[in-house]
Amino acid sequence: HVERPEHIQCQRMALPVYTEEQQIMEAITESPVVVLSGETGSGKTTQVPQFLFEAGYGDPSSPNPGLIGITQPRRVAAVSMAHRVAEELGNFGRTVAHQVRFDTTVSADTRVKFMTEGVLLRELATDLLLTKYSVIIADEAHERSLNTDILLGVLSRVVRLRQKLALESPDKHRPLKLVIMSATLRVDDFVRNSRLFRTPPPVLSVQARQHPVRVHFNRRTPAPGQHVHDAIQKAAKIHTRLPDGGILIFLTGQAEITYACKRLREMFSPNAGSAAPAQTPANGLVASVEDEDVDIGDVISESGELRDDYASDTDEGSDSEEEDEIIVGGDDGGDDSREARKTLLEENLRSTPGQAGDQGAAPPMPLHILPLYSMLPSDQQLRVFAPPPPGSRLCVVATNVAETSITIPGIRYVVDAGLVKEKTYDAQTQVQSFEVGWTSQASVNQRMGRAGRTGPGHCYRLFSSAVFNDQFAQFSEPEVLRMPIEGVVLQMKAMNLDNVANFPFPTPPRRDALSKAERLLTWLGALDDKGRATDLGRLMSVFPVAPRFAKMLIVGQQHGCLPYVVAIVAALSVGDPFVKEFHLGAADGSDSEGDGDGDKGRSFADQVASAEARAVSNEALAAKEQQRAKRRRFWAMQARLAGAEPTSDLLKWLAAVGAFEYAGGTDTACSEYFVRAKAMGEIRKLRGQLTNIVQMYCPGVDVAMDPRMPPPTKMQQSVLRQVVLSGFMDQVAVRGDIAGYHDPDEEEAQKRRGRRIVPYMTMWSDEPVYIHPESVVHIAARTSGTMPQAIVYSELQRTSRLWAKSVTAT
Ligand code: ADP
Ligand code: MG
Repeated sequence: HVERPEHIQCQRMALPVYTEEQQIMEAITESPVVVLSGETGSGKTTQVPQFLFEAGYGDPSSPNPGLIGITQPRRVAAVSMAHRVAEELGNFGRTVAHQVRFDTTVSADTRVKFMTEGVLLRELATDLLLTKYSVIIADEAHERSLNTDILLGVLSRVVRLRQKLALESPDKHRPLKLVIMSATLRVDDFVRNSRLFRTPPPVLSVQARQHPVRVHFNRRTPAPGQHVHDAIQKAAKIHTRLPDGGILIFLTGQAEITYACKRLREMFSPNAGSAAPAQTPANGLVASVEDEDVDIGDVISESGELRDDYASDTDEGSDSEEEDEIIVGGDDGGDDSREARKTLLEENLRSTPGQAGDQGAAPPMPLHILPLYSMLPSDQQLRVFAPPPPGSRLCVVATNVAETSITIPGIRYVVDAGLVKEKTYDAQTQVQSFEVGWTSQASVNQRMGRAGRTGPGHCYRLFSSAVFNDQFAQFSEPEVLRMPIEGVVLQMKAMNLDNVANFPFPTPPRRDALSKAERLLTWLGALDDKGRATDLGRLMSVFPVAPRFAKMLIVGQQHGCLPYVVAIVAALSVGDPFVKEFHLGAADGSDSEGDGDGDKGRSFADQVASAEARAVSNEALAAKEQQRAKRRRFWAMQARLAGAEPTSDLLKWLAAVGAFEYAGGTDTACSEYFVRAKAMGEIRKLRGQLTNIVQMYCPGVDVAMDPRMPPPTKMQQSVLRQVVLSGFMDQVAVRGDIAGYHDPDEEEAQKRRGRRIVPYMTMWSDEPVYIHPESVVHIAARTSGTMPQAIVYSELQRTSRLWAKSVTAT
């Protein structure tokens, strides 16, 4: 009785999962736990919830009345997949909802609920049996996020419990089904783990129609930092020389993506004239049918066999950076590369002769450039699913969000820098940092697969095959091995899973990380001396924030400070809301992508007409002056928000949140206070949530969210510093001279350079840390000439030294 729009029904029928419906549903009916693996894009996330829905799951009058819950490691995916499934369910669209930390659409109508893993973990703390649900789909399990691992551990128990209860009193209880979905076949950690599942769950794998993808490695691996430039160049070449098909570029983060989008827009946006680089179809190599090659020119392959098939002699001595080619995939499995090559060849032959060459000579069609990263507002993220404007080519510049959790239609070319930005954590020093490094072989292969969804594709790897073979790990490390785990340990303890060491982790955490987490929680008062959750600990676990922050919320209920603590905690959880000085050039560093304004004065005509060129240079001068004025406003605002006697970066964050909301929380306020719109929006939502939770769980506390919150008094400020200290007791650092630290070499070197930065000693290591130069504490010390005796830091970052960030003087 589901009535779907016709185009949706057609698309569904083309998905590999679609034909497996019966098999999948039988497996789910027969066993409590099922593992489903299938290539990204095969339809797992969008279809399996619908199969369950149509089989009656979630229907209050059916034998399985509980909700269909789907967990996602990322908010982006939870929101966008809920949208999509709602659309696909046509007349039942309103039964689909999402819930993420900042946002929920759950209502009485909800039967299918997409959520982040964190949301479900928190629900488990108050309802260990998950009585609301009849089935949980743990999606993207191959990513091995910390929360997936913990969830699977807990769910394996819940499933068993519900089974037992359903046997004992079938009128009151129904079994809970668990479906684990993975984009890779590497599911042994779940399946062959008898502590997790006593009987190995059945594994279904969906055969995806993967077209062959031709992989091109660079001959050389670019120097660090060069990859963005290389990616832009490669995309430009593809666009100007190769036939239709979307381009997907993998970079590491927002800054890179924003830059690449801007550059590509300058080159190819419809009104940028022919400022694109000159495209000579060198030696007729490009896509001439005789060459049997739609490659970006000049292929040199060291593998003779491939050469014979693809490269013509004229390739010799060309300036190509490309090296190896490998063809992967194809319906008959990756091994049958001959077959795969044939398919590719046929496909190339079918393309109109000279098509790509024509594109190379004439100005190329417009390039429809879209960024995709998790900080991007959801409505902008959803744009990647829409077809590009007629007559243009789609080009998505993405982080690894696009690796498996989101499938962008129509991609034929993948440009992969091979890098990933990951939060890493050193349990010893407690240094957490975002580090850019090579991703794993498994992950670049996933990225490659994105090119083969709609037809044969190409994947350009901006690194050499030697680096790929020697320096890339085979698989990415599960997050549980590289993240602080105090949050999940507290969640488990609150669920009375006291013996964390015995918990059925798919991959157990390192012992030192575990004991560090337990020690921190004990210090925070969340655990007693037997390692059990205290009442305080249980209370802390209901807040959707890190245990330290939860502690601050509970301690902060004095002297009318709570609204301030809520705002500080919300900001700490969301992350530094400020635009940085180096972002000032780029559209305020805001989420705006500078549509249309980037190509002013850059058109070809402008460059040749000298009169206009003068106008351009005047314009450029004016722009420079505007930049300078902006910088001055930036620094003036930093000083204003820091206050007259700056003692804490977090108080500056608080001032920014207060001033921003007071000014109406508009985009204008964002530019005035140099804060990021998305961060401020999330902070506002989180403040609202935290305020509600405080009211619900802390009787007698009266707190409301006031958009016109007056600044804290002097006394309140000093209370706030104490509250911060209570959350970061283990992150205190004492000035080097007081701690007896002395490094004559360093002092000498600093004297020579004519500046002095003061070392601080932490509780954790003998390595000194320094206050980050952006910190108000550092800036204040420049005028006062004295550095505080001790500081609390909320983050350490390692570059050339260890920098303490978001610092509070004690
Ligand atoms: P899997 O979970 O196996 O990776 P999905 O169910 O996410 O696969 O995707 C199946 C298909 O649905 C893909 O081809 C994808 O492009 C398409 N799709 C997913 N979300 C959207 C959307 N919001 N708009 C249009 N198409 C979408
Ligand atoms: Mg999926």
